[in-house]
Amino acid sequence: MNRADFISAAKSGAWDVLVVGGGATGLGVAVEGASRGYSTLLLEQSDFAKGTSSRSTKLIHGGVRYLQQGDVSLVLEALHERGLLIRNAPHLVHHLAFVVPVYDWWEGPFYGIGMKLYDALAGKLGLGPSKNLSREETLERIPTVEPDGLRGGVVYYDGQFDDSRLAITLVRTLANLGGTPLNYTRVTGLLRSGPGGAIEGVKAVDEESGAEMEIRARVVVNATGVFTDDIRRMDDPDAGSMVTASQGVHIVLDRAFLPGDSAIMVPHTSDGRVLFAVPWHGRVVVGTTDTPVPEATLEPRALDEELDFLLTHAIRYLTRDPLPSDVLSVFAGLRPLVGDPDSDTKSISRDHTLLVSAAGLVTITGGKWTTYRRMGSDTVTQAALVAGLLERPSVTEDLKLHGWTDAVDPIEPRSVYGTDAAEIEALEKDRAELAERLHPSLPYRASEVVWAARFEMARTVEDVLSRRLRALLLDARASVEMAPRVAGLMAEELGRDDTWEEGDHS
Ligand SMILES: Cc1cc2nc3c(=O)[nH]c(=O)nc-3n(C[C@H](O)[C@H](O)[C@H](O)COP(=O)(O)OP(=O)(O)OC[C@H]3O[C@@H](n4cnc5c(N)ncnc54)[C@H](O)[C@@H]3O)c2cc1C
Repeated sequence: MNRADFISAAKSGAWDVLVVGGGATGLGVAVEGASRGYSTLLLEQSDFAKGTSSRSTKLIHGGVRYLQQGDVSLVLEALHERGLLIRNAPHLVHHLAFVVPVYDWWEGPFYGIGMKLYDALAGKLGLGPSKNLSREETLERIPTVEPDGLRGGVVYYDGQFDDSRLAITLVRTLANLGGTPLNYTRVTGLLRSGPGGAIEGVKAVDEESGAEMEIRARVVVNATGVFTDDIRRMDDPDAGSMVTASQGVHIVLDRAFLPGDSAIMVPHTSDGRVLFAVPWHGRVVVGTTDTPVPEATLEPRALDEELDFLLTHAIRYLTRDPLPSDVLSVFAGLRPLVGDPDSDTKSISRDHTLLVSAAGLVTITGGKWTTYRRMGSDTVTQAALVAGLLERPSVTEDLKLHGWTDAVDPIEPRSVYGTDAAEIEALEKDRAELAERLHPSLPYRASEVVWAARFEMARTVEDVLSRRLRALLLDARASVEMAPRVAGLMAEELGRDDTWEEGDHS
């Protein structure tokens, strides 16, 4: 997992499949391509999962919301993928009980029947039967749910995961399959066979050295989420807008606000949204909002009214009322909402949208984390046709992801590493100081920083704090306090000087 080696490899070859974008979608496409035996390169302008893919609600789910909207086939597909993911990455995805608290007489039967349908759609890959709960049973599962007017609840089961750790696991899986993942490499243009001719590769810049490269490929896949239209316009400057962005914000609270093992799901807030309060890595994640934003950015900011909405609803459903000062962290992500694409393109649409332009640019967008594998599979099948590659069947339904082990306790902080956890422990045996905790409020140790820089392509302090460890999402203040130590460990590991160590790593 050496970035310098990957840069040399990127420049040297002509690739079968070149993927632009290192979020869930691009990683799904790249793993699919490499696992079918196509030579595959993935370019990410920032860090892997820096965009939306590290800012989700952390659920691997069929989407109860889609069921409410009557989109049964979508739920069916997502539930199937949920089952595969639990099988192929049990170290990263696990079962979680969700309780819908019931305050109105009709909600119990209504949501009870809905959840039975959800169970039935999951079939053999179901995680456990849903059931109606009495008021006492509901309070037993969620001791801090608002008891005033509570009639009972409905419990159902879904999957929970660590989004950026799954992304890093896919990066490692890609490399294990012989593919080349490259972060901090931005695509700046497309290579063509001649004016208006077919796309033959990309121009890219190494964001660390500033070096420019031209990389040839038989097919280029645009998997850039809310930035999709930027790449489409490199192909056709007159291409209309296909994607708009909608922001979703989460707040993170202490676990005391939601003790126990169950999450809360509110299917219909006063203004018609779905709201979750989910235990995650020893904290509680509450979200989300749905706010249209005019421009896509890698660092979206939560609006005051979004924070108000989340706090107001947390107060409505919990006995202990969180104050703004109780918020340990806030994170915001942008959903790519797909509108009508240009009419000169071929469209195969599910929840996700797959397009092929006249010049052969393959664009994949929409969908969700849960369906990343299916999106990858559909895309590679299409991309192989565009590139005239030998047709090969997908093998990812049964592909175990890097670090696979089913001997995991999801409560154990290092479970996300799977079999790599033993190797991280070995680092601590070699150098005792690496076993030191980085901060008293978080479980992370120095060894994990070394591991992230050495084997997970972490390049900045923020890569480590946000996406290798989840410190910045769990406790922003603790993260700031541990940043200098993380910078010191990284500087040593990456051979950086004092100026780098003392620099701005935000
Ligand atoms: C608030 C919120 C909550 C969600 N919760 C869930 C959930 O619980 N479960 C679920 O299944 N799904 C969830 N989703 C959906 C899921 O997170 C997204 O569908 C998924 O992460 C999108 O991944 P992506 O790869 O398409 O986009 P991104 O993750 O944004 O990746 C696109 C990447 O392309 C890169 N890029 C852009 N331009 C260039 C360029 N020129 N060169 C190189 N790279 C470039 C960007 O840097 C970025 O990293 C949620 C979404 C939101 C917004």
